[in-house]
Amino acid sequence: MRPQENRVVAADWVLPVASAPIRAGAVAIDADRVGWLGPLAELPEPWSGARIDRRPGIITPGLVNAHTHLQYTGFAALGQRQYSGFEQWAFAFEADYRAVTRPSFWASSALAGVRQAVAAGTTVFADIITNDEARGALAAGGVAGIEYLEAIGELERNWYDGGRADFLARLERPGQAPVGVSPHAPYSLDGSVIKDLMAIAADHGARVHVHLGESARELDFYRHGDRSFLDIYGDMRDEFDLVRRGGAGQDTASYADSLGVLDPTAHLAHAIYLDRSGRDLLLRRGAQVALCPRSNAVLGLGPAPVAAYLSEGHEIAVGTDSLASSPSLDLMADVAELAAIAREQGYRGDDLAGRLVRAATLGGAKALGLADRGYGTLVTGGPADLAVFDVQADDHAVEAALVSRGEGRCTLTVAGGAVIHEAAASGGLDWPS
Ligand SMILES: [Zn+2]
Repeated sequence: MRPQENRVVAADWVLPVASAPIRAGAVAIDADRVGWLGPLAELPEPWSGARIDRRPGIITPGLVNAHTHLQYTGFAALGQRQYSGFEQWAFAFEADYRAVTRPSFWASSALAGVRQAVAAGTTVFADIITNDEARGALAAGGVAGIEYLEAIGELERNWYDGGRADFLARLERPGQAPVGVSPHAPYSLDGSVIKDLMAIAADHGARVHVHLGESARELDFYRHGDRSFLDIYGDMRDEFDLVRRGGAGQDTASYADSLGVLDPTAHLAHAIYLDRSGRDLLLRRGAQVALCPRSNAVLGLGPAPVAAYLSEGHEIAVGTDSLASSPSLDLMADVAELAAIAREQGYRGDDLAGRLVRAATLGGAKALGLADRGYGTLVTGGPADLAVFDVQADDHAVEAALVSRGEGRCTLTVAGGAVIHEAAASGGLDWPS
């Protein structure tokens, strides 16, 4: 996949996200950068002889999937079922996880995930790595992002008896993508381990990604330490600090904050079960949320407070989560679901579609700390990452059309200037003359 110099992609609309939509717009690619963008009629001289790839629909920045586990793409059968809650799903997942005997499964599964997501317009990933064999899939698939190395089920005594050294060795092993640190969740690791992981991340200049507020029972666990919440850990559950202490007496956000998890370098997956004071604490600390509505529905969880996050001023991001809990890796399907939830929750602002397109692009790039490098927007000099969606739109509702009909409609994905997905447009070419 070599960058193609002097390629121009044109469509009915360009949505740069950080600037106004461009009708009959074009994006000119110069190696791995955006060389120019604007109305096709104003294409400047250096590109006048370039091949113009004219497509029906809407050009967006490459989408940012702000929460996934690509190594579980091979667990797609799990995500096709319906569960009655997080705990029921976790037992089903654990059985499939333990049944994997070939480490090479994780690498091939992760690469298959990249390809599926790329075919839906995603070029940047927050990918959680539980098994290091899954590292390298982003580079192999020609996409950007962060590989967040996960720590899970770590008790303090194990951590300081080899666990910490093992984690540092993982973190310091050279890789092709930047690495981040993912303490799985505040309930699945002793608090002192999470504090140490936050310090390790800071020492290494690494971003952090944590699951928070995904289970309806999580809040009660932080308050009272009910051991049945950790049944999945078997006998080991009784050794967890919060079980031994009978909880921390704190709500979800306050407990996470006491561990240093709420931080501008961190973003939080799911964030369903947080009340107003918890959400406000996230906002004050600058910790972003990545909402995964279809995964939440498969697990039988309540919907995240999408309307509240938007009206309270959060910059949100979107993730698909993995195929172990979601029907597909098509991020636009989650965007459509967020729109439906927000409306149902009473969100009336006419900025809804625009904010959700932003969540799937710039919001995600900010959550990963990659916005400063130009990801999540189309801007001259920024990375040549874009997607084209074969969606026809009225002049005043381009974003709304993309939100409601973007799923399954990606006809071109370019990452780092290279075409990494191309499909025929389903409709006829509808090019304004
Ligand atoms: Zn997850």
